[in-house]
Amino acid sequence: MKKTVIYPGSFDPLTNGHINIIKRAAKTFDEVIIAVAINSNKNSIMSVDERVNTIKSIFKNSKKIKIDKFSGLLVKYAKSKKVNTIIRGMRTVQDFEYELQMATSNNKLDQAIETVFMVADANYAHISSSLIKDIIKLGGSAKEFVHPKVESELKKILKKRK
Ligand code: ADP
Repeated sequence: MKKTVIYPGSFDPLTNGHINIIKRAAKTFDEVIIAVAINSNKNSIMSVDERVNTIKSIFKNSKKIKIDKFSGLLVKYAKSKKVNTIIRGMRTVQDFEYELQMATSNNKLDQAIETVFMVADANYAHISSSLIKDIIKLGGSAKEFVHPKVESELKKILKKRK
């Protein structure tokens, strides 16, 4: 039976740390659904559709990797996709505390749902979307931390805002 995993997140923007988790997950599972959360966070730098389209263009040649967006409860979304495994990345003790709470809550909401964690690669563990947002807002280059397609998208967005 095909084993699918959902990788949910804000991905605002997608970083090289996320990409590392996605590629490793695609080696471990038959299919990975990257699920971009639709939430009304006013601090977001990219719209949900900009995120989805950029991620799609990055993984357009990877048959095992699918991109989608969802709103509302993650467990409901997972059920609608008939998937019961969620993957999350783990960088720090702070991540652990938050992720433990989320995983436990999701399992309480739906006992069929299991969350698995992938430990961040040491080369990427320092990268976060909020770090990228800060660098970009201060006029710096995020080149080292994101895919070239994300970088050019961020540049376009900032130009429009000016
Ligand atoms: P959320 O807002 O749901 O936390 P993020 O886009 O910030 O969404 O992160 C999605 C998932 O990816 C989380 O599990 C997070 O811990 C993980 N993650 C974020 N950055 C990295 C990284 N550099 N390396 C590994 N995992 C990461």
